[in-house]
Amino acid sequence: MSYVFTPPATVSVPVLGRPERFPVHRIYCVGRNYEEHAKEMGFTGREPPFFFLKPADAIVSVAAGETGQIPYPSLTNNLHHEIELVVAIGTGGRNIKAADAAGHIFGYAVGLDMTRRDLQGEMKKQGRPWCIGKAYDHSAPIGPITPAAQAGDVARAPIWLQVNGADRQRSTVAKLIWNIGETIEHLSAAWELQPGDLIYTGTPEGVNAVVAGDTLVGGVDGLGTLSVRVTSS
Ligand code: MN
Repeated sequence: MSYVFTPPATVSVPVLGRPERFPVHRIYCVGRNYEEHAKEMGFTGREPPFFFLKPADAIVSVAAGETGQIPYPSLTNNLHHEIELVVAIGTGGRNIKAADAAGHIFGYAVGLDMTRRDLQGEMKKQGRPWCIGKAYDHSAPIGPITPAAQAGDVARAPIWLQVNGADRQRSTVAKLIWNIGETIEHLSAAWELQPGDLIYTGTPEGVNAVVAGDTLVGGVDGLGTLSVRVTSS
């Protein structure tokens, strides 16, 4: 096989305790999946889960103990952090029932769904796609993947984010509106999940802006921490 140009390398994320890396297929994200965050975005009530995607090469993989760098993106004056539990799919499938979802999960990681909030807001207002607000380059920082067997009880784990050492987001994964199994059930009814898919499961309340020079440190207990610095592009 030859190509008209060299194809890009496979995007991948390190796996704790293993030399092999996790190759990324797609990045699915769940919108408004914590009640208090839905409220701060102007919505109330339980609505069916909805999804958007980021390209796999939006991943910024940060190794354990390191601080990653993300450039302040173009076109925005309101770059928001969203700390999220990320589910890594190891076994694909269609129409997976919530009760069977655990068997499809390879592991879990801490991720940031970075958002150009002003652009997302403008697109929402006009009824246009969110891509420019959500799916831009470097918009998906992620820490190493912890295999499911070593991750502890992530479904009830505290989730938190600090910016420059001060609390911004603090909640628990137990407050997900659609839990991990239900999310996989809904997602796999719409797309055939594949090994390598990542699911950013949504963010709790407290989303806010960051600027160049800020350092973000976030975590989900049992999965370690993710540290990222925003650089001036
Ligand atoms: Mn999000």
